[in-house]
Amino acid sequence: MSFHTPCCGLQGSVTVFKSIDVCMHLYAPDGSYLNQPYAHDPHYLLEKDHLLASAVICPRSVPEVQEIVKLSNQFQIPLWPISIGRNSGYGGAAPRLRGSVVVDLGRHMNRILEVNVEGAYALVEPGVTFKNLHDYLVQHNLRDKLWIDVPDLGGGSVMGNCLERGVGYTPYGDHWMMHCGMEVVLPNGELLRTGMGAMPQPRNPGDKPVRLDEEPGNKCWQLFPYGFGPYNDGLFSQGSVGIVTKMGIWLMPNPGGYQAYLITFPKEEDLHKAVDIIRPLRLNVPTIRHILLDAAVMGKKSDYTSSNEPIDDAGLDAIARKLNLGRWNFYGALYGPEKTRNMLWGIIKEAFSAVEGARFFFPEDIQEYCVLHTRHQTLQGIPTFDELKWLNWVPNGAHLFFSPISKISGDDAMLQYSVTKKRCLEAGLDFIGTFCVGMREMHHIVCIIFDRKDPASRQKAHWLIKTLIADCAAHGWGEYRTHLALMDQIAETYNWNSNVLMRFNETVKNALDPKGILAPGKNGIWPSSYPRQLYKL
Ligand code: ADP
Repeated sequence: MSFHTPCCGLQGSVTVFKSIDVCMHLYAPDGSYLNQPYAHDPHYLLEKDHLLASAVICPRSVPEVQEIVKLSNQFQIPLWPISIGRNSGYGGAAPRLRGSVVVDLGRHMNRILEVNVEGAYALVEPGVTFKNLHDYLVQHNLRDKLWIDVPDLGGGSVMGNCLERGVGYTPYGDHWMMHCGMEVVLPNGELLRTGMGAMPQPRNPGDKPVRLDEEPGNKCWQLFPYGFGPYNDGLFSQGSVGIVTKMGIWLMPNPGGYQAYLITFPKEEDLHKAVDIIRPLRLNVPTIRHILLDAAVMGKKSDYTSSNEPIDDAGLDAIARKLNLGRWNFYGALYGPEKTRNMLWGIIKEAFSAVEGARFFFPEDIQEYCVLHTRHQTLQGIPTFDELKWLNWVPNGAHLFFSPISKISGDDAMLQYSVTKKRCLEAGLDFIGTFCVGMREMHHIVCIIFDRKDPASRQKAHWLIKTLIADCAAHGWGEYRTHLALMDQIAETYNWNSNVLMRFNETVKNALDPKGILAPGKNGIWPSSYPRQLYKL
């Protein structure tokens, strides 16, 4: 395996673990989306060296991962596994516990082990990005058979995004729902296969013996997720009791036709009607984006205003006019042969025409580059990198996501929007957000953009997200995922029946990982070896 300490560039083997100290890492570059640091969060909200790794270790195989875990138990070294480590807006590759060793699985373990056309699935290692998987389909002339689902940015790993329960925008947008079967290194170093993977695939008498992790999986491992007995996969999602080394993901059979579209709504309060119209129509994962999210993809704040204050209503209307967009912009797609699409489009148009001033566009209706052109790619599973342009909204732009879940209802959407917008304005920041409509709920994603080089700006962002968590909890809205610095606070809001969920999680954690070596503090779960009172933020 390869190994380096983040600031000293030392090379060595895993046996030098003992001598590693926490290096100060203040001068490490923040890099960029495609060239991210591995020992700190480039979008640091706290001091740059607060959530800092002591070393990064890059195993080349499953047995090496097992060896790392065993040694970590022996020397009680906390590990923080990552797949690609971009995790933008949620902490990057940085560990929750300062001084942990980042296990960079994706650097060397990045094979697409199988793409099965008949079963419409792939089996991947940690380092396979959405772009890699898409390129594979293109290179093997498989795009006419299979599509993948991609999130807004194509450079993250299929595995990391899925484990964090990230979303994309096609009918396969709930990535966790679409995973099927995993291979996991447990905290004691043993190797587990979940679901049907627990049943060995019979071997022929003449077959040569192979390493455990290289044994072909059961033929139904990627076809049926549950196997027999309790369904354990959830323990490894946003969890800290296993390092996932293989994962199956279902791919979308090519729907036989496709059409992206945009519907613009002129007024702020149109959000209410639009959301109520979407609920019965929901077909893929449409998004209703606030005008400033699209404005930020198309330019910097200084391109629209000379003021540093949040942009007011008149300013927002002027931007909407300039970009030929609405105050809310609804991006979706139709899937299927032309006849089906025409029928669906008729229904959708009729429904949304109830919103006065709604306008309807296909990508080919707009000449100059616009967000619809990017969504046209994303909604058919083609990875893009454009979305992060909104980071340039302010100088030294860094970001955090605040992501509460809500009902798909106009009342809830308006209330959540007004609660979050009010606090953004109080913090002196623009509201930039989007509602992603899921199967039965919406992920409301508020993008908090701040200047990472300016401590006052970071403090404002920190105050804002902490306040939003508390405000939303008071309404019964919880977050689906969060940045490292907020994990403790959010875990505390899921406290029904005297925190029984946390007590359950801690019992599982302490039983499976008695030394607490794996991702201590992840999602607010602290093992008994790292008492919460001492470590929580
Ligand atoms: P991305 O690939 O989107 O950049 P990361 O690799 O940073 O995402 O993964 C996001 C988070 O998911 C990590 O911080 C870690 O907590 C968890 N994670 C990622 N990969 C694994 C893995 N293979 N095993 C266990 N946990 C993982």
